[in-house]
Amino acid sequence: GFKCGIVGLPNVGKSTLFNALTQTAAAQAANYPFCTIEPNVGDVAVPDPRLDTLAEIAGSGAIIPTRLTFVDIAGLVRGASKGEGLGNQFLANIRECDAIAHVVRCFEDGDVTHVEGKIAPVDDIETIETELMLADLESLEKRAAALEKKARTLDKEGKDTLDLMTRALVLLREGKPARFAEVKPEEERMFSQLGLMTAKPVLYVCNVEETSAKAGNSLSAQVFERAKLEGAMAVVVSAKIESEIAVLPPEEQKEYLEAIDLEEPGLNRVIRAGYDLLHLVTYFTVGPKEARAWTITKGTKAPAAAGVIHTDFEKGFIRAETIAFDDYVKFKGEAGAREGGRFRLEGKDYVVADGDVLHFRFAN
Ligand code: GDP
Repeated sequence: GFKCGIVGLPNVGKSTLFNALTQTAAAQAANYPFCTIEPNVGDVAVPDPRLDTLAEIAGSGAIIPTRLTFVDIAGLVRGASKGEGLGNQFLANIRECDAIAHVVRCFEDGDVTHVEGKIAPVDDIETIETELMLADLESLEKRAAALEKKARTLDKEGKDTLDLMTRALVLLREGKPARFAEVKPEEERMFSQLGLMTAKPVLYVCNVEETSAKAGNSLSAQVFERAKLEGAMAVVVSAKIESEIAVLPPEEQKEYLEAIDLEEPGLNRVIRAGYDLLHLVTYFTVGPKEARAWTITKGTKAPAAAGVIHTDFEKGFIRAETIAFDDYVKFKGEAGAREGGRFRLEGKDYVVADGDVLHFRFAN
């Protein structure tokens, strides 16, 4: 599955947010037990109203959302790249993640100490990013030096790797994250295999006080501006509100949200933004037994998409019976979509679109 690491300075609300995320997940998918792999790892249901719509049309007995893994990564402090705090342990945890949710303190509260002594979210972002850049720089310099030593005997793959490393090193030495590197689509795989933390996509999560949960505040506005410059994403959330909502039964959640004029929990936005950040899309399988959402990377072709359900589906792939979500709704299900001429048979080169309702035909 796909993993999103939650990072940030101490006392910014990471754990509060992580606990709310994992508690809400349990509430959202009562028929799909919440599993704690480790205390700091949680599988979260991805909220998707389309799934409920499909289940209603098909009269599905169960609704099974797709899931995203969040990892609470503690121990990131100034000097972490030099072994301060939890040092290298957290670095290893971040390397395993596909994307980073960076929680930034945008609330004033005299009772909650700020490690750097002042509330300055953009400075905090730079503190964290500097640690990650230093750690990337150090590991990359070692690896690049080792490759350069045997430069003359390198094969094509080795040369290409060294070339990518050099591009990242130039940026890191200028104090810029590796994600600014210009990487061709065919190089992306190799680039991500370098395991650079500052190459991972970033979502800034602005933790604001309760009264700013809807519109944000001047501090979160600074973070949004910064995100725009970097081509990163940002969302506003009140970790405190989320932690209160998360433990309520669904009906009471609704009342609470209405009372504070929010349409949905802020966490839904965090989860969806995490999903977008990873360039993930969803397709559905729908029947009387269950309506289920599946996660694939944008651009995945039908056989590989089938392989997410079962490897046999991919190996023996013949066709994908396909109905676009909008057509499924408009024609009130599969039979209607067939009559309306919106039922397609797609082959092995078909790129699955977000929202497709699929049924795979395969041979054993
Ligand atoms: P972490 O160290 O980043 O994991 O931060 P925690 O989630 O443990 O939160 C640190 C402290 O800040 C706790 O006492 C929280 O109750 C408090 N806190 C977290 N979010 C908020 C918030 O939105 N507003 C206020 N006033 N306090 C918060």
